[in-house]
Amino acid sequence: MNIKKVVVIGSGTMGSGIAAQVANAGISVTLLDLPSNEGSKNQITEKAKERIIKSRPPLLVEKTKAEHIETGNIEDDFSAVSEADWVVEAVVERIDIKHSIYSKIQDARKPSSIVSSNTSTIPLKVLSANMSEDMKKNFCITHFFNPVRYMALLEIVTEPINDTEKINFLKSFCDEQLGKGVIICNDTPGFIGNRIGVYAMQVAMTEAFKMNISIEEADAVFGRPMGIPKTGIFGLYDLIGIDLMADVLKSFIKELPIEDPFHKVAQEIPLVKKLIDTGYTGRKGKGGFYRMNKSDGKKILEAINLETGEYSPSKKINLGLGDKIDIKKLIERNDKYGNYAKSILTKVIRYAAFLIPDVSSKYIDIDDALRLGFNWTIGPFEMLSNIETNSFIQENTDINYFQTIQNNFKFEKRPGYLDPKIDNLRSLKLEKIFHNASANVQDSSSFQIVEFTTKANALSTDSMLALKEAAQNNKSTIIINEAMQFSAGVNLNYVMDFAKNNEWSKIEKFIVDFQQTCKAIKYADKPFIAAPSGLAIGGGFEVVLHCDYSVSHTNVVLGLVESLVGLIPAGGGCKEMLWRWLQTPEGKENSEYASMKVFDLIGYAITSSSPNEAKPNQFFLSKDKVVINRDRQLTTAIELLNNIESNYIKPSEPTFRLGGSSVKDKMFEKLEKLYSEKKIMDHSLEVGKQIAFVLSGGDTNMNSDLTEDDLYNLELEAFMRLIQMPKTQERIKHTLETGKPLVN
Ligand code: NAD
Repeated sequence: MNIKKVVVIGSGTMGSGIAAQVANAGISVTLLDLPSNEGSKNQITEKAKERIIKSRPPLLVEKTKAEHIETGNIEDDFSAVSEADWVVEAVVERIDIKHSIYSKIQDARKPSSIVSSNTSTIPLKVLSANMSEDMKKNFCITHFFNPVRYMALLEIVTEPINDTEKINFLKSFCDEQLGKGVIICNDTPGFIGNRIGVYAMQVAMTEAFKMNISIEEADAVFGRPMGIPKTGIFGLYDLIGIDLMADVLKSFIKELPIEDPFHKVAQEIPLVKKLIDTGYTGRKGKGGFYRMNKSDGKKILEAINLETGEYSPSKKINLGLGDKIDIKKLIERNDKYGNYAKSILTKVIRYAAFLIPDVSSKYIDIDDALRLGFNWTIGPFEMLSNIETNSFIQENTDINYFQTIQNNFKFEKRPGYLDPKIDNLRSLKLEKIFHNASANVQDSSSFQIVEFTTKANALSTDSMLALKEAAQNNKSTIIINEAMQFSAGVNLNYVMDFAKNNEWSKIEKFIVDFQQTCKAIKYADKPFIAAPSGLAIGGGFEVVLHCDYSVSHTNVVLGLVESLVGLIPAGGGCKEMLWRWLQTPEGKENSEYASMKVFDLIGYAITSSSPNEAKPNQFFLSKDKVVINRDRQLTTAIELLNNIESNYIKPSEPTFRLGGSSVKDKMFEKLEKLYSEKKIMDHSLEVGKQIAFVLSGGDTNMNSDLTEDDLYNLELEAFMRLIQMPKTQERIKHTLETGKPLVN
């Protein structure tokens, strides 16, 4: 069996997302929707295709992938179904409409095809009620999460009648070609992810009301320290839509038997009803639990008081845990935060365990569903296995109960992913041979791992220490982590603290150390592979640039963005990008071409949001590898190491011939033009000049060779000039405070 042609019926949020992901895999897909009464009959799907192309963050890995998407309407183009290997229904959540579509599909489909629905609430047996036996065998639910490209979870809901071979085939296809973590589920309300994820959200919310915890406190606890995205609970509610969550709850209340503990946490809360009734439906409405208020022309984030319903300026909560995920420390705290965390976790674990085996027979499925569908770093059972049950529970009976769960989980399967052949950092159980506050080095018999461990994996002196340690160990190395970001760059707080006290020599020392670390990676005796996912930008991307290969996740964002904060890449980023462009046919012929290309990439802080987009920028080379399923990234990196290790020869040091003042003048000209046309502001002009200084090679010409160290020195010189400028410091301060760049 093979899937070469796909039809998606329904081109709304989910249908479009699924069609885009199929197109990303290079497979042809026809998107069908209702015919339009006016204008083009295919208007609905044509507009959907336009939305796919323009979507932000992009649903397509590159715009040309849209070529794989055909548009049509169900009246004129239903014949596409007869050629499809897989038909996905993603129309509105109405059973009458879905049934009438299935009846048409049943008549048109070819016998070998698979048909699935993307429903989130209608049971499989209800969907398939009127189908022929043959269609039933080939019909299942494929429950994707929104946005489809970025959310890793796919739940496939099956019935005993299903053709197992076909379901397994679909599972492998969705895993390997669409990059999804596929969990096969039973036909129960909300399947696994939403049933437990929404329950956890409701517990976190109702306990906050009960325990008198403010919304900022709740989000600080039920967030980063537990390995849960920083939106926490109330921020997440605002993001999803408070009204939408109310509908989700109604559906669960309707579907679940009255004795299900879900009912206890799903009752209507008067404040929530009031928010919905008054248009405070979350970020899409007037605001929600949080809102932006304008006062004296300034935007102020406000938070609601759960008792009074009044808003006041939101307070930053410092739990004193640093920026680490540390469930054990949190639970062991003897204060209201510890008690709140404990109370949520005991309830979520109890509920999750209660659902076994009805919802799934495996603990790991529940953990994986929360990890992949709700972006939790680890699921509730793995959290339990990381803490001492004694510190968790007081009563003896409870200790036995939780210890049994701990043991069951431990013996069920290693903490791994869906496919036991796939490795991850936890399942490998490597020995930590080095660690500090920012990173660690783990050792296996044949390779070592460097894992960054800070918030957004911002780089500090400690991160450099770990990389240098790895480089001197004479062992092949993979730089990888399981957090959201590979690395968002150098820790700007760290640099700013020195800048505030005019401690320039300390900043200089840090940059030199960064450069030496990058050099150590590049010239280590054994190969280095970077496995970036999420953000690998600024200093994070400079680390990638110095590795021999990258094994990148499809959704990676790569680029040198230093100019946004008034700086230049000074960890060898300018140098490596120059070198890459000098190796292109045009660059070999004309070094000016290379300098000018890199000038644009760094000056405009260009980023690529997939390896496909990164290739034409030389951020990603043809020797590098792409992995669509992030859970397969480490295994792919290990395979690559095994292939290259025995013949590995470390790179020889390059020399550079650059144009010096002749090319610098051209860059200056370009800058002056942009400035006079008011396309760039004062400080961008200044930053641009510093970039030009480095990329033209400083005081050089085409008859002299520059070494790598010469280029590192130019980077350092320009960086030090910029960091001392008040306007650069303003940019950094603004970005640290708002997360956004300042134009000055
Ligand atoms: P949507 O409202 O965005 O899109 C539904 C589409 O179906 C519309 O384009 C509509 O024109 C089309 N449609 C309606 N009747 C049709 C018919 N007879 N023939 C062809 N097309 C028809 O909805 P959505 O959010 O994309 O949801 C689609 C399905 O996915 C639903 O079953 C929903 O429960 C499920 N789902 C949604 C999400 C989510 O986050 N939105 C997540 C998982 C699952």
